[in-house]
Amino acid sequence: MDWRTKLLDPKPYARRDYTSLATPVFRGSTVVFEDQAAVTDDWRQAQNGYSYGLYGTPTALELAARIAHIDGGRETFIVPGGQAAIALIYLSYCTAGSHALVPYSAYGPNKAMAEGLMRGLNVDVQPYDPLIGADISDLIRENTTLIWCESPGSVTMEIQDVPAIVRIAHAKNVAVALDNTYSAGVMFDAFAHGVDVSMQALTKYVGGHSDLLLGAVSARDNAAFAKLGPIYKQLGLAVSPDDCSLALRGLQTLAVRLDALERATLEIARWLVAHPLVDEVFHPALPSCPGHDIWQRDFQGSTSVFSFTFNATVSAKQVTQFVDALKIFKIGLSWGGVNSLAVVYPNLERPDRDFAGRIVRLNIGLENPSDLIKDLSLAMPST
Ligand SMILES: *Cc1c(COP(=O)(O)O)cnc(C)c1O
Repeated sequence: MDWRTKLLDPKPYARRDYTSLATPVFRGSTVVFEDQAAVTDDWRQAQNGYSYGLYGTPTALELAARIAHIDGGRETFIVPGGQAAIALIYLSYCTAGSHALVPYSAYGPNKAMAEGLMRGLNVDVQPYDPLIGADISDLIRENTTLIWCESPGSVTMEIQDVPAIVRIAHAKNVAVALDNTYSAGVMFDAFAHGVDVSMQALTKYVGGHSDLLLGAVSARDNAAFAKLGPIYKQLGLAVSPDDCSLALRGLQTLAVRLDALERATLEIARWLVAHPLVDEVFHPALPSCPGHDIWQRDFQGSTSVFSFTFNATVSAKQVTQFVDALKIFKIGLSWGGVNSLAVVYPNLERPDRDFAGRIVRLNIGLENPSDLIKDLSLAMPST
C-alpha cells in the first residue's frame, strides 16, 4: 500500500473498548455499511441503525435519548437551536390553509415566524391572550391544527393554564405544542400535563454557559413522532457533535445550577418588590405574577428569568440609564448562563398594555447575590 493510501485508511488500530464517564464526540458524515444490501437512508437511526451523520452521530443520539428520558417522551430530536425547534413544530403541524394559535406573550421570533414564513405559506397564525384558559374553545376553527403554549411567557411572564387548554384542544382533535425553555424541561412536566410536543432551547439552561446553540423537540407519543420525523429529515437539521457533547456535560450540573439560580433569583426579586421605585415584579413565585396560582399548582420551581416595571415617577430615559449604569449585570439577550444580564424592552407591545419603556428583564447568574443587589442599588435612578 502506498503511504498516500495508508493515510486514508479508516480502519481503527487503537483498541475501541474505552469506557469512561464522558460521552465520546463522534464526528462523521458518511456511515460505512457492511455491504451494499445494508445501504439505507433512514433517519430513524435509534431504531434501525446508523445511515448518515445528518440524522445524528452517537453523540447527538445520546443527548436526544437522555432528554427524551427526562421529558418522559417517546423520542427527542436535537436541532440547531430553539428557533429551529419552533420551525420544525410549525412545519410539521401546519400546511397551506391551516390555522394555528400562539399566545401574544410568546418568544418574539416565534411570532415573527408566524407573521413571516408561515403567513407566506398560507398558514394563518392568530395571537391569543395567554391567560385565556378554557375559553380557547371560542378561537378553535375547523382548520385549526396547532395551539402553541409558552408558560411563563417571554418578558411579561404570564403563566398559562396548559391543562385547561390541552383539554379543550384534544376534545377538538388539535395538537398542543409547548415552549418549555423557561423550565429547562424539568420545572414543568409537559407530558404529564397533556402536551403533545415539547421543545426547549438547550442554548439556555442545559448548555448553561452561553457557549453553544442547540434545541430539542420531544414527541409525546407515536402520533407526534410520526408528524415530526419526516419534516426533521426533509429540513436537514444537522447539529454539531461538539455542541451536543457540551450539552451532555451541561446536563450533569443542571440540577445544582438550577437550585442556586432559583435561590438567588428569588432573593433579588424580593429585594426589587421592596424598592420604592419598582412598580410590579413579574416572577412566577410571587403573587404579582399573572397566573401565579397556576404556577403553584403545576410547577416544581422557578428559574432565573423575570421582569419588573419601574413606577411612573421614572422616565423611559432613566430606565435606559439604569441598565447602562449596571456593572456586574451585562446587557444582552438570551439567558440561562452563569452571568447576570439585564435588558430594557423599550417597544414591548401587548394588546392590553403600554409599558412605556419601563419594563426591564433580568437573568440572574451565579455571582454572589449580595453583589448583584449592590449593583442594582447603585444603578437605581435618583428621583
Ligand atoms: C432563547 C429562546 C428560544 C430560541 O432559542 P435559540 O437557541 O436562541 O434559537 C426559543 N424560545 C424561548 C422561550 C427562548 O427564550
